[in-house]
Amino acid sequence: MPLDQETADRLATLLTQGATNRAAAAALSIDRGTAARYRASLGIGPAPKRPAPNRSPLTVEQKAMTLMRPAKGGHMSWAGRRTKSNGTATFTHHERTYTARSIAFRIAKGRDPVGYVTAECDQPEWCVAPDHMEDEPGRKAARAALAIVTGRATTLAECNRGHATAQHRKYLPDGSPYCGTCHAENKQARRVAG
Ligand SMILES: [Zn+2]
Ligand SMILES: [Zn+2]
Repeated sequence: MPLDQETADRLATLLTQGATNRAAAAALSIDRGTAARYRASLGIGPAPKRPAPNRSPLTVEQKAMTLMRPAKGGHMSWAGRRTKSNGTATFTHHERTYTARSIAFRIAKGRDPVGYVTAECDQPEWCVAPDHMEDEPGRKAARAALAIVTGRATTLAECNRGHATAQHRKYLPDGSPYCGTCHAENKQARRVAG
């Protein structure tokens, strides 16, 4: 039985808005077969699937926290997966993969990290404690501060190849200063030679 124009219009609207045949049929008191026929004749694809009912109600930060385990010295170990290639702590939330440390950083700082995240504590191999995470700028600042404390801060304005200290100076975890640009150039030279 063809629908009257008003019902047909309302059905078209419901279907384009993502209603299932069942929901549209119930709303308009028509049968599901009619709704299905109209869907086909209007060229409207199937209704989008609703999210799985077992979808975690946790936020990505909360999910990460369920996988952290307190360890001695205020560190935290990771009870989730690690990548086979380099042991990076990862987890999946709502079909997306995250690294534990980027989310740990977000938990502590309330923003996304810039560059990659490392544990700037005495357990850099495995620690994922949010308070121990630093991103690129934070790491540079923390190591520069350490260099000053340990008396290793350089007073030179540039390295021996003329790279300005202010832009190019980097630090090892123990606060030892080095020229980031020379380091990158040397690495590049080794790659070319090798
Ligand atoms: Zn730590
Ligand atoms: Zn240099």
